[in-house]
Amino acid sequence: MKEMPNILWLEEIKKEDIPSVGGKGASLGEMTAIGLPVPKAFVVTAQAFRKFLVETGIEETLFRRLERLDVDDNGALESVSRDVQDLVLSVEIPDHIREEIIDAYARMGANGTVVAVRSSATAEDLPEASFAGQQETFLNILGDEDLVDAVQRCWASLYGARAVYYRAKQGFDDRSVNIAVVVQELIRSEKSGVMFTSHPVTGEPLTIIEGSWGLGEAVVSGSVSPDNYVFDLRTERVVDRLIAEKEIMIVPEGEHGTKIVNLSEKQRTAPVLSDAEVARLATLGRIAESHYGVPQDIEWAIVGGDVFILQSRPITTIRRPEIPRPGAGSGERPEKPLGVVLLEGQGASPGVASGRVVIVRDVKDTSAVKEGDILVTKMTNPDMVPAMRRVSAIVTDEGGMTCHAAIVSRELGTPAVVGTKKATKVLQDGQVITVDGEKGTIYEGAVAAPAPAPAAATVAAAPAPVITGTLVKVNVSLPEAAKRAAATGADGVGLLRIEHLILGLNKTPGWYVEHGREEEFISELYGGIKTVLDAFSGKPVWVRTLDAPTDEFRNMEGGEEEPIEHNPMLGWRGIRRDLRSPDQFRLQVEAFKRLWAAGYSNLGVMFPMVNHPGEFIRARAMMKDWGVDVENATLGVMIEIPSSAILVEDFIRAGIRFASFGTNDLVQYTLAIDRNNEHVADMYEPEHPAVLRLIDYAIKACREHDIECSICGQAGSDPAMVAWLVGHGITSVSANIDAVPRIREAVARKERQILLDAARRNA
Ligand code: PEP
Ligand code: MG
Repeated sequence: MKEMPNILWLEEIKKEDIPSVGGKGASLGEMTAIGLPVPKAFVVTAQAFRKFLVETGIEETLFRRLERLDVDDNGALESVSRDVQDLVLSVEIPDHIREEIIDAYARMGANGTVVAVRSSATAEDLPEASFAGQQETFLNILGDEDLVDAVQRCWASLYGARAVYYRAKQGFDDRSVNIAVVVQELIRSEKSGVMFTSHPVTGEPLTIIEGSWGLGEAVVSGSVSPDNYVFDLRTERVVDRLIAEKEIMIVPEGEHGTKIVNLSEKQRTAPVLSDAEVARLATLGRIAESHYGVPQDIEWAIVGGDVFILQSRPITTIRRPEIPRPGAGSGERPEKPLGVVLLEGQGASPGVASGRVVIVRDVKDTSAVKEGDILVTKMTNPDMVPAMRRVSAIVTDEGGMTCHAAIVSRELGTPAVVGTKKATKVLQDGQVITVDGEKGTIYEGAVAAPAPAPAAATVAAAPAPVITGTLVKVNVSLPEAAKRAAATGADGVGLLRIEHLILGLNKTPGWYVEHGREEEFISELYGGIKTVLDAFSGKPVWVRTLDAPTDEFRNMEGGEEEPIEHNPMLGWRGIRRDLRSPDQFRLQVEAFKRLWAAGYSNLGVMFPMVNHPGEFIRARAMMKDWGVDVENATLGVMIEIPSSAILVEDFIRAGIRFASFGTNDLVQYTLAIDRNNEHVADMYEPEHPAVLRLIDYAIKACREHDIECSICGQAGSDPAMVAWLVGHGITSVSANIDAVPRIREAVARKERQILLDAARRNA
């Protein structure tokens, strides 16, 4: 940790200071920097805490006690936690730190300011780790001695039993966990409440404000029914107000704590906010929303006519409008254009981001790509994935909703627009643009987002577990996305594409074989798949064998030998390649075998691009020869070539355990529309009657034979298509990470409708 001061005022805090000031401190600093009226505060930094541990000589004793602790032994956890907290409280804070705290406090106001003292924990290597709510807060603190005591109690609370247990289970080393303390003027609010800067369910530009008398705790804790005001940001007017009967308020009590006060008859029914105050709050909300790029959930307070913003965080409940379907136009235009539209393409990964353009014409150029830039390229390829991880948005000339850029961006939660045809020509290096990955629009400059929440925000809150009869699974391509995918609460992984993992190695499987380094390849594959299996313990994970077209292999080491094909999409890929390259297939099977042997019975294996049951039979026979207990292994196929839909009953007779529609390819092979060709993207129609008829036929056959039938193509992330599939009897669906919540909802709605219709028919 670099040398940092013991005290930082909000005005001095920069984004990079999270390790010193914690998430809470950094967020207050950021709000101050964009001009929001945040109550005066300073932070006693994590460095002050570390110096305290070192200079008092308790550091080693403390960490040694924690290291020896078995957190699953409840008695030991409680007693070690108590001992360690006592240790922290038993020593005097070194004079120089103590004096700095008291000096800073004196600078807050002349005759002693009443403050709130809140802890803000942080991990050195993972500054954003959420330790919220695990350390103490002390409200209504007055005077030097009480303040210093409260700071020391905050420090001690880092070792509360719950916090120690949580960190141990999350794999955090206590030595790398720190605590900063925010000392903030306590606002004795006359009125206070919360505000959603956009409608929390629909995402419309309507600011919803809830307010009540006294401290905000009353509204936040739900102990009072607050007034509710709706402000339309488009017309800048209060369009709805509901004045509630507010029975109580919470106020500070004496020099410590708070108390509940009953309200007079008059105050109970009086409106808390005037229209002018609603408008002022909405304006501040708009500033926060445009700064953060996503709708915010804000705590506010008003005293003596002054408005204060106490906290701002992203709303996690917004249901985003559906992604426009390929071929269905680019969706609704915003009512007021956000700015000058430079380009349009297909919104391939939701979210809005602004940044500096970096045009990548060759993978060599990716070294110029810095954190937060916008990567603009003809089409991404696997070599670019490391750079794709750094950028705030991605724009391509080519491609459709199922191209490499689209798949990887969705998985990384990075906004992306694909198929703009001319981004690399129209945009300039260094130019600042805003990318709307929902609408598929690129704007000039950094413009404020309208309303949509990005994928990450939507996914952040695991949805309330809606139980559906149809399993709702998730697609994963990068092991690093496994945790995010599992956080959606999905019922398993309906497609794990291993080619992204293999292409990321930058050497072809053939290279590993040729150089006698097969073990390395197997262990990479084993590790990547294991990460996903671990994240979905007890739930099915269908891992697909390698399906990379030759053009994607060519840039890799060992790729010089790849044949040049006129049409790689129709060429040497999928199971047909594995069957003719037993060495390559064997390495994959070896990784699966080891995972099964390690007890991962939730692993199923899916073969891509099968067009005849004979391919399935041969693949299974090879696996058997290599020692797989194929009778008990879960083996299935993708249905992504019309022939496999037509021959589905023969596949069932051949012994598949499951089938999954790969509509990305099924559509292109049924309609002769190249899925990556932006010139025919408008003719790429998953709802084409021929595609639907093939799917319907195959679902019926699977149901008749009790075989699990699923979908893992992009159409499985389209609520309308999914409702149709559920209506036609599909047994599971697998969606992109960002789409899981809305797909689960579409499934639940359709299932209820089916039950209701049946009940009505039988009534
Ligand atoms: C598909 O074809 O629908 C599919 C899921 O496979 P991929 O997109 O990897 O070809
Ligand atoms: Mg496919």
